[in-house]
Amino acid sequence: MSGPLTGKVALVTGGSRGIGAATARALADAGADVAISYASAVDCARKVTEELRAVGVRADAYRADQEHPAQVAGLVGDVVSDFGRLDILVNNAAAPAMGLIDDPATDYEALDRQFVINAGGVLATIRAAAAVLGQGGRIVTVGSVVASRAGYPGVADYAAAKAAITAYCKAAARDLAPRGITVNVVQPGSIETDTNPADGPYSDMQRGLNAMGRFGRPEEVAAGIAFLAGPGASFITGAVLDIDGGYLA
Ligand code: NAP
Repeated sequence: MSGPLTGKVALVTGGSRGIGAATARALADAGADVAISYASAVDCARKVTEELRAVGVRADAYRADQEHPAQVAGLVGDVVSDFGRLDILVNNAAAPAMGLIDDPATDYEALDRQFVINAGGVLATIRAAAAVLGQGGRIVTVGSVVASRAGYPGVADYAAAKAAITAYCKAAARDLAPRGITVNVVQPGSIETDTNPADGPYSDMQRGLNAMGRFGRPEEVAAGIAFLAGPGASFITGAVLDIDGGYLA
């Protein structure tokens, strides 16, 4: 199989489901060999890697909980050791937790834990990847539009984690540009996944918040990530691409 990413090796964190799985498929369709990570859904991860191999690329899945920086560093090391190199990192894994900041029923421990996973885990992955990416390397991080506009109550801690990684990526773009590595962010709006089903209790509210009045599909986010990971995005770094059906319009 030959495409614009043939010869490249990509790592997609949280590639077992949703946006991450769609991204892994998009990168494989473009010819990249793809490693995915997951937290616990080994069957989903296995199914995704089988689909990727079916298009003719090399694929493997790794269990790595990004709550623990050592596991993340180990993940990057394992991918380089198994695939021989790393060219593209997609930081997609996240574990959202919501709650009003002034509600005694809010699980503050869960909010603190999501910050460790969604911000600390992403930083640890970028640091580990930055050490091994070469000229032409790509880092694409999946943030969220709530980093730019909350839109509804209960997202303060999650929004703070997502804003932190967007800021980190802009600054990392400065650090890594001299080595020919680009660092960009994709901020999805409401996308239909296991975590955010289009028929969930808050789905009508979410549809009402974007100009297009619907949920996006994981593939619609994956297309933007694959573009930023590809040769056509060679002069784009430190950028934020909102894929949100007009939530921020
Ligand atoms: P999803 O379907 O729930 O998938 C989450 C993925 O992250 C899974 O592969 C999961 O692994 C992995 N993961 C969860 N906790 C992890 C941990 N501690 N360590 C390592 N991996 C972990 O999520 P999604 O909706 O596609 O979201 C993907 C990204 O888009 C996230 O960064 C999310 O914040 C962002 N986003 C989503 C939406 C939306 O509406 N869906 C909107 C804005 C931003 P397992 O399968 O093993 O659990």
